[in-house]
Amino acid sequence: MSHAAARSSAGKAESLPTAAVEDYAKAIYSLTGWGEETASTNDLAEKLGVKAGSVSAMIKKLDAAGLVERVPYHGVRLTAEGTQVAMAVLRRHRLLELFLAEVLDVPWDRVHDEAEVLEHWLSDDLTDLISKKLDDPGFDPHGDPIPDRDLEIVETETAALADLAPGDSARFVRVSDSNPEMLAYLSECGIAVGDQLQLIERQPFDGPITVKIGSESHVLGLTLAQAMRVDHKA
Ligand SMILES: [Zn+2]
Repeated sequence: MSHAAARSSAGKAESLPTAAVEDYAKAIYSLTGWGEETASTNDLAEKLGVKAGSVSAMIKKLDAAGLVERVPYHGVRLTAEGTQVAMAVLRRHRLLELFLAEVLDVPWDRVHDEAEVLEHWLSDDLTDLISKKLDDPGFDPHGDPIPDRDLEIVETETAALADLAPGDSARFVRVSDSNPEMLAYLSECGIAVGDQLQLIERQPFDGPITVKIGSESHVLGLTLAQAMRVDHKA
């Protein structure tokens, strides 16, 4: 399905505001991925910052529009059509983030909030122009894969930095874009996606870990080490 088709199927959900449909599709995708998993009403409510009752009402509308499938007692997952809506908005979001960071020099901890708004208003033509300007990039500034023009995405498996054993080496490949403080802190430490690192030491009882990047050692708290994804295969 083309972007335009994905856009119109979001719009087809009559009287449903497109931005809300896209936010739900994106949230369900981030909670379930491509698998058979389902997203519960409570998880969605937490993710979207709305009440469970609002989620239930919206799910009914998305179901009627053919964008989600309800699994009794478990939750929802996206239909093929719903997945296309999620892919189209993720493509716009992630390209916008990269454009803001690379072309406008917006710090990487600020691009997400801007993209959250702009992602709903970018035309397909402008989206493709941004992609072309950036040489059809595969990843956004946080290491998240960008769906291509055909809305295909390549999700690679990653491990949490916190799960490495002392002595393990890996490349820092991805971090959630939704915690600006964490991103700003990483910048302050001079740590960036793409850095090669080695786990030196792990303090017991969920204590901090020490990693070496280049010639520098950094002591990182466990929450941060769990959010940082590396390409190490366990
Ligand atoms: Zn983002």
